[in-house]
Amino acid sequence: MKKIAILGSTGSIGTQTLEIVRTNKDLEVTALAAGRNIDLLEEQIREFRPKLAAVWSEELASELKSRIRDLDVEVCAGMDGLLAVAAQPDSEILVTAIVGMIGILPTIEAIKAGKDIALANKETLVTAGHIIMPLAEEYHVSILPVDSEHSAIFQSLQGGQEKALHKILLTASGGPFRGKKRDELVNIQVEDALKHPNWEMGRKITIDSSTMVNKGLEVIEAKWLFGVSVDQIQVVVQPQSIIHSMVEYEDGAVIAQLGTPDMKLPIQYALYYPERRFLPGERLDFYKLSQITFEQPDMETFYGLRLAIEAGKKGGSLPTVFNAANERAVAMFLDRKIGYLDIPAIIQECMEHHRNIENPSVDEILKTEQETYEFIKNRW
Ligand code: NDP
Repeated sequence: MKKIAILGSTGSIGTQTLEIVRTNKDLEVTALAAGRNIDLLEEQIREFRPKLAAVWSEELASELKSRIRDLDVEVCAGMDGLLAVAAQPDSEILVTAIVGMIGILPTIEAIKAGKDIALANKETLVTAGHIIMPLAEEYHVSILPVDSEHSAIFQSLQGGQEKALHKILLTASGGPFRGKKRDELVNIQVEDALKHPNWEMGRKITIDSSTMVNKGLEVIEAKWLFGVSVDQIQVVVQPQSIIHSMVEYEDGAVIAQLGTPDMKLPIQYALYYPERRFLPGERLDFYKLSQITFEQPDMETFYGLRLAIEAGKKGGSLPTVFNAANERAVAMFLDRKIGYLDIPAIIQECMEHHRNIENPSVDEILKTEQETYEFIKNRW
């Protein structure tokens, strides 16, 4: 029996993780954490019977407690709740399916408690990769990528030839606005940006995919996960989302992982690594698949990607500024307080304003996050 805890169980990755648990009898859920959706969390608790559940607000935690008083499940709230779920004593692996930098402290807590991490929460690696990766090594825990591209890279590196890795070819769908120029994006509304051509995901990452900021975050995530320089990562647009990423070895050989766009594959691979299991669902049919095409990304129109590459190269606290500015800008766009093109503009202005801190501590990262939010609040 493999015991797992999930941060963000009510979200897109969280619910797909639970679908995998449902179809595999040797997985057991020990702890679940969610933000506000206590209706779904209650259903999940009744079905999967974890020992511990956490919700963000005290108020919702006490409501949940009273709803499930017939069950023997501990309920906690706030950051303490997330930390308790992260380090739940019985679990072996933590799925970090929470969105945003709020994942940093629980991820650190889980590593220190010796849990492997199935990492979806890319914002944590983007901002604190220089802390997370050495810590995981120190505590002998594995960081297993859930992001489909990083899982593809990880799968392409199986065979133990990581030393001969020459470069990473990180594929991108290009999002719903591929081929458009900046002046065609001025009037983009929330509904337009939430329509991803190939993937069903949470709201924040769907907007990030449309701006290509998501690909930028993934470049920085790949840098930390695979110990390469940003210059060794090439973004390749592959609009059909069939190739999930590739690696090029020293001798020029390119190895790729292909499949239908289904997040359950990388989630399941992370949960059972290094074992492969049967996964129900659609398979690639190469007779029907008419073409796989490739393009260069348009970094003039989607300059959020260029800014991420800059932040990833400079390092320090700049990726935190990039990420925090994007998190806030996307939230403001979703609330219809700013226009679509304001998202990269806000990121750029925050990055220009920031004085970079080399090798920031967790406190400095969290302080930089708050300062970035403050700067945006005063400016927009
Ligand atoms: P969703 O928005 O669908 O889900 C986010 C989850 O986090 C929800 O369960 C939400 O709870 C929970 N949450 C948010 N804030 C808090 C909080 N303060 N305390 C506790 N729980 C909280 O996001 P996704 O599943 O799309 O993405 C999750 C992460 O995975 C992101 O980092 C994303 O970049 C990454 N990722 C996602 C992919 C996808 O296909 N969706 C692909 C690759 C990576 P509630 O809803 O109850 O408020």
